[in-house]
Formats: sequence, C-alpha cells, structure tokens
Amino acid sequence: MDGPAAYLWALCVSLLFRLSTSARTTFRTEVMPLLYYWRPDNYARDRRFGFGFHLNQNSPAMSTAEPGDSLWAFTQRRSDGSYVLAAELVVRALTQNPANYRYGQWRIWGDLHRSRYFDVDVGPRVEPIIRALGVRARASRLGQSFQGHAAVRPISPEAHLMLSEFTRDVPILQTAAIYPEDEFEARLVHEEPVRNLMVQETGVTRDARVRYLFESIDVRRARKNIQSLHELYGGRCQICLYDPQGLYGHRICHGHHIQWLSRGGDDELENMVLVCPNHHSAIHKDDAPFDYGDFSFRFTNGLCERLAVNHHLPSAN
Ligand SMILES: [Zn+2]
Ligand SMILES: [Zn+2]
Repeated sequence: MDGPAAYLWALCVSLLFRLSTSARTTFRTEVMPLLYYWRPDNYARDRRFGFGFHLNQNSPAMSTAEPGDSLWAFTQRRSDGSYVLAAELVVRALTQNPANYRYGQWRIWGDLHRSRYFDVDVGPRVEPIIRALGVRARASRLGQSFQGHAAVRPISPEAHLMLSEFTRDVPILQTAAIYPEDEFEARLVHEEPVRNLMVQETGVTRDARVRYLFESIDVRRARKNIQSLHELYGGRCQICLYDPQGLYGHRICHGHHIQWLSRGGDDELENMVLVCPNHHSAIHKDDAPFDYGDFSFRFTNGLCERLAVNHHLPSAN
C-alpha cells in the first residue's frame, strides 16, 4: 500500500485512535492491556507444577484490570537468554487476596477458554517488539526494568494489537489444562482413593502434578481443616446457610479451596470455605472468582453471592 491509499489508511487509524481515547474519559470501550514480566525462576516453578490460569501480584497496575482485558506475560528463555512471550491471560475477574497474602494483593482470574500459554522453547524473540511498545524500560537488560511493583505495566490498545498480531502463529502449549479439582476435592473429603482419577489426566505435567498434590497436601490435615469448618459453622453452608446437619443429622457440606489445590492453592483454613454441595458444584462449574474484599463469589453471569456468615476468613487490606 502506498500513495493516497496509505494516507487514507493512516488517517482512518488515527481517527479511530482519537475516538477511542476520547471515549476512554467517559466509559471504557476498548481494552486496557497489561504487560507482565514473569521471572524465569518463577516461570520454571509454575510450569513444573502446571499453569493455573491466574496471576497474583502486588503491582498497582493490576488494579486497573477489567474483564476482557489481556495480560501479556513474557519471560527469559533459559536456553539462549532471549525474551519470549509466555502467555496471554484474558481477564475474567480481578479480586483481592487476604491482607498480607504472600503472592500479592491482587489476583487476576484468566478466562480458561481464551487464555493462551505459548511454547517458549520455540517462540520468536519479543524484545524488539516490547522496546517498540512505548513501555518505559531503561535498563539494558529488559527484565531489570520490570522488578518489584513495576512487574506489571499498562500498555496501549495499539501495543495490544501488535502483540496479538505477533502471536498469531506462535505455537501454543497444549498441555496447559485445568485439573478436575472438584472430583479431587470430593474424594479428599469422602476418603476415596484419588490416584485413579489422577491418572486420567493427560499431558506432560501430569506426573509433576500428581507428585505435587501428594507431596504438598497432607490429607489428614486437609480433613482436619474441613472438620474444623463443620464445627465452626454447625455444618451450614456459609453462602445459603443450608443446614443438613440440623435437618438430617449428617455433615454433607464440603470444604472448598478458594484457590484450587491443583492450581497452587494453600491447604490452609484461610483458603477454604464451607459450602453446600449445590453451591460447591456451581462454584467449580463456573470457576467462580472469590473476592476477599467483600467475601463474595462472582459468577460469570454477573450473579454475586456473598458469604452470609464468616468467622474465619481474613479480609483484604
Ligand atoms: Zn449453599
Ligand atoms: Zn471446591
């Protein structure tokens, strides 16, 4: 494209850009993407365990994320030191973690269907693109510009389009998948063997995940936690107060891990709620984000269900 055609095209683009930036002051119509530097040691650790389709961080830029925005993650490839794109998390929800949570104040929940993990072993070098995005990165080594609170940065909608274009043909890791946590948790609660279930998972991360789950989760302790919750709430669902213990004399509510065990969640009371089987199913089916800011589960259709009773979860800051 050259001559008048190129001029017209550039005019259209600049007009569209002006329209979108003027709209930003009144209401958000366009994406507000983020760029995150995934330190190679953290990347390696997360990958060993299996990707969780979420990001916990303290960077203030996290607080601007809204559903539909993209968070682009890049890392440094160990084999040749190149910077490469590692993931695009499409934001489903932004929630607050409990105060002093060790991985940061904010949590982005990625859309399980639209988020992508790229194959960093074969992906092309992304440093020239990132340096051209207009992101402040003065350090000669790119990663050094993204330390601490600067790990997550806002980028422009145009930069987002460039990255989308850049990743059009980048191979995706097919092994990034979510473990069937609901069945795992249920069997943990009901004391059934979970090994059969685990071997159904396919992919290279399976062995690592099975090892992780068995090494990091003390089943006896996990059941003790669930027992404590039953005692604390008289066996009632913390959301709807359904009381099977009062009605039938049986404890049938479940201990749910807010951040799934199979996605790196802690086996701690602070990460658990007691819910009825119906609420538990709905939460897992929806992968409903939980916010420690107002103690609510936020479902994809917009329904927000707050805990009716809470005696054990710490609040956000
Ligand atoms: Zn319930
Ligand atoms: Zn659960």
